[in-house]
Amino acid sequence: MSPATSRIRVRTPLVEMDGDEMTRVLWALVKEKLIEPFVDVTLERYDLFLPERERTDDQVTVEAARAIQRLGVGVKCATITPDGARVKEYGLKRAYPSPNGTIRAILDGTVFRKPILVRNLAPMVRSWSKPITIGRHAYGDVYKLAETAITEPGRVELTFTPAGGGAPRSLLVHEFKDPGVVMGIHNLDKSIRSFARACLAYALSEKVDVWFAAKDTISKIYHARFKDLFREEAEARKADLDKAGIHYEYFLIDDAVARTMRHEGGFLWACMNYDGDVMSDMVASGFGSLGLMTSVLVSPDGKFEYEAAHGTVQRHYYQHKEGKPTSTNSTATIFAWTGALAKRGELDGTPDVVRFARQLEAAVIETIEAGLVTKDLAGIIEPKAAQAQTSEGFLDAIAARLSEKVAAGVGA
Ligand code: NAP
Ligand code: MG
Repeated sequence: MSPATSRIRVRTPLVEMDGDEMTRVLWALVKEKLIEPFVDVTLERYDLFLPERERTDDQVTVEAARAIQRLGVGVKCATITPDGARVKEYGLKRAYPSPNGTIRAILDGTVFRKPILVRNLAPMVRSWSKPITIGRHAYGDVYKLAETAITEPGRVELTFTPAGGGAPRSLLVHEFKDPGVVMGIHNLDKSIRSFARACLAYALSEKVDVWFAAKDTISKIYHARFKDLFREEAEARKADLDKAGIHYEYFLIDDAVARTMRHEGGFLWACMNYDGDVMSDMVASGFGSLGLMTSVLVSPDGKFEYEAAHGTVQRHYYQHKEGKPTSTNSTATIFAWTGALAKRGELDGTPDVVRFARQLEAAVIETIEAGLVTKDLAGIIEPKAAQAQTSEGFLDAIAARLSEKVAAGVGA
């Protein structure tokens, strides 16, 4: 059959955000080989690569976030967050903030990281047979702290001064006789509720149980507030959770860690900011490879932005620029596209679009399971691959499998 005449039509435009370096190279190849020949989709394109952020004084990032608010679903390529070296390299007016941070702030969203599982790469933890998704609250706690060193004897107090002019209230933190350190942290009910709502929206979208864990036995006000607000938000969506056949459960953080190590997976673990920072790295390395980790930003009102969890793979890009062949894993980038297409299809009520996304995911997984992998996986799969595919070779192998599936009308 001719793909040109039988492409699957996507009803609503998708927000496309291109990015930088090696992932930009992969982005164009993925579109050319795996998306455009099969899918007729209108892409509302925002180019977030650094020269365009420089040209628009970063307005393009803001516009991309607004487009996701308007259209509901976006797919993003990895982008450089410029530091001093990048400002020099690209001759920038200033070090623009992280595009992910800007988009997350506008959508008030939460990031969920989910590993892709393949049969020939066993997780480090024997019991893990389904993905464990980490949702990390991204506001406050130790990431917005006030701290100081105490070098002489004295009293540290926590003082709240009402803006309305009432009497200030003070709490003794510690009476210092010896040198030490002290910190103050905070969070906001509004942010905690948004986080809980985004977690519930994700769990309902993926049909997985949701855990939230904290240490309310020790922190009876701060951590307990998270627990209480999370429970309230879960109760507000009880009917939806019941209908989807999924559950919300609260655990003490140490209990959640212990359970995770003997659980089969297949749940969302909602984490406070610091726990999420730590646990997402633990879970990611436990599942094997950065090239197999996907990421989605979900807003409390159900807008979705899909991307790979890894960065722009700078080292490979410099090889590419020298004209050398590369072996960069495009799996997570492809899954960003399939996640976005499947969500678009679900929202539009177009099952053929969802089906195509699942066929493409199956084509990727079968390619990896056949031992056709890039260098990052070649040495860690069982059995090891004798030879690694190039970036293009890996995509061509997937495209061949995908064409067969689409032609045969095979589901995932
Ligand atoms: P990175 O791009 O994630 O890459 C770090 C290393 O991990 C690579 O050098 C490579 O190891 C390996 N790797 C990552 N993804 C891979 C893939 N798809 N296939 C094969 N190997 C892969 O992190 P980085 O080099 O520290 O950061 C580069 C830029 O990315 C930075 O400017 C940073 O700001 C940006 N960044 C963006 C995002 C985002 O947009 N979401 C996230 C993180 C970082 P080997 O070199 O050993 O092969
Ligand atoms: Mg971390």
